Amino acid sequence: MSYVQEIIQQVIERNPGEPEFHQAVTEVLESLEVVLDRHPEYIKAGILERLVEPERQIIFRVPWVDDQGRVRVNRGFRVQFNSAIGPYKGGIRFHPSVYLGIIKFLAFEQVFKNSLTGMPIGGGKGGSDFDPKGKSEGEIMRFCQSFMTELFRHIGPDTDVPAGDIGVGAREIGYMFGQYKRLRNAFEGVLTGKGLTYGGSLVRKEATGYGLVYLTDQMVREKGKSIEGARVVISGSGNVAIYAAEKVMQMGGKVIAMSDSNGYVFDPDGIKLDTVKQLKEVERKRIREYADIHPRAEYHEGPAGIWEIPCDIALPCATQNELDGKAAKTLVANGCFAVAEGANMPCTPEAVDTFLSNNVLFAPGKAANAGGVATSALEMTQNSMRYSWTFEEVDAKLKQIMTNIYRNISAAAREYGHEGNLVVGANVAGFIKVAEAMMAQGV
Ligand code: GLU
Repeated sequence: MSYVQEIIQQVIERNPGEPEFHQAVTEVLESLEVVLDRHPEYIKAGILERLVEPERQIIFRVPWVDDQGRVRVNRGFRVQFNSAIGPYKGGIRFHPSVYLGIIKFLAFEQVFKNSLTGMPIGGGKGGSDFDPKGKSEGEIMRFCQSFMTELFRHIGPDTDVPAGDIGVGAREIGYMFGQYKRLRNAFEGVLTGKGLTYGGSLVRKEATGYGLVYLTDQMVREKGKSIEGARVVISGSGNVAIYAAEKVMQMGGKVIAMSDSNGYVFDPDGIKLDTVKQLKEVERKRIREYADIHPRAEYHEGPAGIWEIPCDIALPCATQNELDGKAAKTLVANGCFAVAEGANMPCTPEAVDTFLSNNVLFAPGKAANAGGVATSALEMTQNSMRYSWTFEEVDAKLKQIMTNIYRNISAAAREYGHEGNLVVGANVAGFIKVAEAMMAQGV
């Protein structure tokens, strides 16, 4: 058994019942064999062993009072995975599927993603199994306050800077920021994705989706293709999906389908984004209602059916493992030429293999969706300067960061003998910077 396979086996044995974490570790470590061949010093220094063990894992009780006056209890998590290149940075997810394994996989991915941004940020992630669906405004606020009542002692602008993720947007960040400020009596850049009136950055809301499309544009243009005129299917209808759709449309592409966890809408005339924004951002309703407003659109139950719609470009922007091997084969058979991950690990390993072996251009999430956290780092920069940049300034920096990421991961793939394989390129490029910093800082 190779050294890398031994480490993977150890991870599986030491972290039982955490398949998403095993999946993320396996995918990254297997592509690092090529690096270890050239850098045996990393083996002696135990870089891989250290890399797969979080620096710190915090699990806590989150008690809150519902509108009926009953006390409820959820579980909160913060995994501070790696701080070699900067303070821990990564979102907070509120979703009933959250358990330690999900937060560990996300935090692990975040280490490499944050490294790829070129900004000085380490990797972390947090969350809770709290389900925001159907909760009142008051319940959301009390939950966020209780969550922060424990989390505040573990974070800080130079220690760990959380942000949003699934189920956590500007509203939740606002409640958590307010509670942090009350407890610490300090107005500081401890969270990103803040509202614009109290230290948030322009473009942060749009950044993950815009960045995804900037990188996709680079990738397809290199092969003589274009977003302009392309039929694009985007899963999800949250923050990432909405602003990916907006940028695709600005670039002349046609978004023909979007989804939520219940089902998807197919609109042959092109999705009307104003309707999606109104339904999802303002009214917090289901995507099903889109078809009531636009009768030429079809609604179908079950989100996975979205991959059966013939398209040129697919942007999975919903959640982990939403696009499996079968869906990937259907996309290939229907002539899809590019896939870029807006969500974290939305494609299963079988799906990724299918794309790569059929010469479908494929950009992994840790590179393709890095624009969100990169802009969070720009928010931290602005907070430190006590200054804010214009929309155009932040957008230009985001575009530059995504261009650099694409160049760096393509170059790393080429240099390590896997030209065109951006999965290997992203893992290798993300890893080397972290490994060098760990080497320099001793055990
Ligand atoms: N949750 C986002 C991600 O997966 C953003 C994290 C951040 O801005 O810190 O990268």
